[in-house]
Amino acid sequence: MKTSIATVSISGDLSEKLSAIAAAGFGAVEIFENDFLASDRSARDVGRMVRDAGLEICLFQPFRDFEGLPEPQRGRAFERARRKFDTMNELGTDLILVCSSVSPLALGGVDRAAEDLAALGELARKAGVRVGYEALAWGRYVNDHRDAWEIVRRADHPHVGLVLDSFHSLSRGIDPRSIRSIPKDKIFIVQMADAPKLDLDLLSWSRHYRNMPGQGDLPVAEFMAAVEATGYDGYYSLEIFNDQFRAGSTRQTAVDGRRSLIYTMDRLKAEGRAVKGPSEPSPLPAPARTSGVSFVEFAADAASGRAVAALLASIGFRRAGHHRSKDVELYAQGDLRVVINMEPEGFAHSSYVVHGTNVCALGLRMADADEALARAEGLLATPFRQPAGPGEREFAAIRGVGGSLLYLVPERDAAGPQWEADFDLAPGWQKEPGAGLLAVDHVAQTVRFEDILSWTLFYRSIFDLTPLPAAEVPDPGGLVRSQVLENADSSLRIVLNGSQSPRTLSARFVSQFVGPGVQHIAFRSEDVFATAETLLANGVTLLPIPQNYYDDLETRFDIAPETLEGMRRTGILYDRDEAGEYFQIYLKALDGGFFIEIVERRGYKGLGAANAAIRLATQTRQAPADIPLY
Ligand code: MG
Ligand code: MG
Repeated sequence: MKTSIATVSISGDLSEKLSAIAAAGFGAVEIFENDFLASDRSARDVGRMVRDAGLEICLFQPFRDFEGLPEPQRGRAFERARRKFDTMNELGTDLILVCSSVSPLALGGVDRAAEDLAALGELARKAGVRVGYEALAWGRYVNDHRDAWEIVRRADHPHVGLVLDSFHSLSRGIDPRSIRSIPKDKIFIVQMADAPKLDLDLLSWSRHYRNMPGQGDLPVAEFMAAVEATGYDGYYSLEIFNDQFRAGSTRQTAVDGRRSLIYTMDRLKAEGRAVKGPSEPSPLPAPARTSGVSFVEFAADAASGRAVAALLASIGFRRAGHHRSKDVELYAQGDLRVVINMEPEGFAHSSYVVHGTNVCALGLRMADADEALARAEGLLATPFRQPAGPGEREFAAIRGVGGSLLYLVPERDAAGPQWEADFDLAPGWQKEPGAGLLAVDHVAQTVRFEDILSWTLFYRSIFDLTPLPAAEVPDPGGLVRSQVLENADSSLRIVLNGSQSPRTLSARFVSQFVGPGVQHIAFRSEDVFATAETLLANGVTLLPIPQNYYDDLETRFDIAPETLEGMRRTGILYDRDEAGEYFQIYLKALDGGFFIEIVERRGYKGLGAANAAIRLATQTRQAPADIPLY
């Protein structure tokens, strides 16, 4: 697959863009005219820069309001084109995008447009370039690729072809199967973009909300399958206008772009719906099945390590052992494993230095860790290796949110062998009674608002997690966007939270404390009422939920009075859906904002979104005085 991206899709100045695009492995760029006009370099210099970066320019764009004009505007449009062709020759590209006219002066008429394009094709032939015609979704007369194709067909000029753009076709609900009857040599380039479903005018939707294939709701894979059916072997070029990407990390957006194309094409390959050329790599390994979180690792120093240990002990974890060669403690409860890493060097220490006490790694239980790693690398994840001591288990790992690690733990290792290999274990460590905690129910990672789409694509493409519809949760300091992703059997749930408002707890966690990372972990209890009693007996302070909440709960649900009384007394939150009931308690946050949640599910599928605003308001009131509240 030949991949390209338009310079307009990412932030930075032209040279930053080009190096990020090349580093992400693209073969080409589209030069967006504004990026060229804003550059202080000549067309020849820009062309050289692109080639020096190891890229080619597959398209120069856009050329607007060309076809169907009366004189004298028609003559002027041709003169404009002549100049652009000169620029293209200096840049070193042979293809220009002509998008369908939105000019109020345009007269319409398929044959008139075809004649104009044929004449332009002749001019292009003389200049040694080609013209690709694109139907803008909001074009005045031409706004459907089927009409654009009819015009190109009638123009019947070897230097005139079609530009397909998934957004323009799919945003108007045009069936992509109509592409299958277009000859591949008349498709000069294919532009790819996805977008969330929004009820917005087409132009604003396109200019601000396009995103990478797999990040939105449009049937981009169907579109690509139709293009593949023609035998097309040219560039798939991302043309993404997105406010967050323009403000986001240049390097990350470029990687995401390439990941999105690899992911979409891989889905087609796996389904046998892609053209397989002789040089095409075979599909990536299918997403390895995960069965949830195997362990959680905290980075700490000696003092904060004691605080984390005390927190764990207070919720029923027992100290199970000490690492044979490192300053690392293992805590266990049933099948749950938590590691506190206080090493003065190595990855965890670096993480502690940068982020303070934080969850520096998660172990994910994988049915096939080798395939999971191969897939992750194929999707441009960054692998991580750290030397293990003699006889110690070493697991493959990739970088996750905020530079943290995701260890890929083979299922057979999750419960016993790895711990026995690496730790001096206390006798009977697995038998101690705890507080009824069974598993990690979900992990909530707080990220920068503009990075939510990026991490959504990461988890979706590499681990096959399904994003649920995103929610907006009110925090006293502003709105928080919350994106839940889960695997097929809900054994792994990741929540991505991010906020544009600087005063929310989420935004402050990122800007003032840990940075992007795990803000809370929810453990699942077999009986949250019993767990709450154990915690209270252990002297744990639970988040005190306002009595107003329970008065309201009483009016919304029929809950047995003694159950409601127990909830009021301990601060248990409640929700219910078609599938069942949900109970939640929250512990007071550690310095820095990390906190623990404990939940009980009785069939319930969600994450208690209805209670999030109550929790956030209460946590904001509870925030210690040394945490500035603005
Ligand atoms: Mg386009
Ligand atoms: Mg939660």
